[in-house]
Amino acid sequence: MASVGFIGLGNMGLPMAQNLIKAGHRVIGLDVSAAAVGKVKDAGGDAAADVADLARRSDVIVTMLPSGKEVREVYLGAAGIVAHAKAGAVLIDSSTIDVESARAVAKAAHEKGLLMVDAPVSGGVGGAQAGTLTFMVGGTDDAFAKAKPFLDAMGKTIVHAGGAGNGQAAKICNNMILGVSMIAVSEAFVLAEKLGLDAQKLFDISSKSSGQCWSMTTYCPVPGPVPTSPANRDYQAGFTAAMMLKDLRLAQEAAGSAGASTPLGAQAGSIYQRFVDSGEAGRDFSGIIRFLRNSPR
Ligand code: NAD
Repeated sequence: MASVGFIGLGNMGLPMAQNLIKAGHRVIGLDVSAAAVGKVKDAGGDAAADVADLARRSDVIVTMLPSGKEVREVYLGAAGIVAHAKAGAVLIDSSTIDVESARAVAKAAHEKGLLMVDAPVSGGVGGAQAGTLTFMVGGTDDAFAKAKPFLDAMGKTIVHAGGAGNGQAAKICNNMILGVSMIAVSEAFVLAEKLGLDAQKLFDISSKSSGQCWSMTTYCPVPGPVPTSPANRDYQAGFTAAMMLKDLRLAQEAAGSAGASTPLGAQAGSIYQRFVDSGEAGRDFSGIIRFLRNSPR
């Protein structure tokens, strides 16, 4: 079994680290929150003094951090992972970050002879706890092969999306579809209400017609048709509006630097920005239907 360093023990990282311990690995945890590290120790793991200490002691390092800024700091700083990792260490960044940072960090790791993948996830906190996450992985064939057994301990579907940064590219493209489709489905339910069409009837028809999509059939934004969707519990997150906004911004940054035309993605970003500004950052992203319902035409 391997020594796995884990940095970023938040809502997602802590259960992922716990699943690595359950799979029999020696996990060494690090977070700016001492309470989070305490939970890893309670689960049978160990603590690191700092990033350099963790890097020196780990065969594999997983990071699950808020954004590209923290990822660059933790990997590229003088006391960071790339400077202190053991020869042949496997580095896995599962944070959702910008493609540019992912590629810059992978390049620095590669230049030091380290194997690195970007491996953002979909599946949320529930998927992290159940060990059923989907990992979208960017990196060389060799890096992917070495990282895969560790990803298997935390997830169910592991897809190699291509070279460095392609995991992040897949993640932001997917979530741009999700942000746009949630708004489209919500607008349709609001219009149906105004036209006197019952929400359940629209669901019964659209979920079997060409309007069918995940935002309709799995995460329906009106209460009733899909009992497990957040609409049935006052839009408690789930996946927050702030996180959706973060991913839509990343998609727009990427579209800008790649020269891709994404007008609906841009519009979805500005609608989520207004939803977040209305005080709903912590609400589930499907609560956008309430914002649309109350917006003037
Ligand atoms: P979180 O804020 O709960 O966890 C982040 C953790 O990183 C915190 O415990 C924080 O203390 C720690 N941290 C921050 N800077 C650090 C540093 N320099 N050194 C050590 N620790 C540091 O966030 P989360 O919900 O766990 O999300 C983590 C990542 O996963 C994000 O990139 C997010 O976009 C992505 N993601 C989240 C979800 C979700 O549903 N929560 C789903 C898919 C992807």
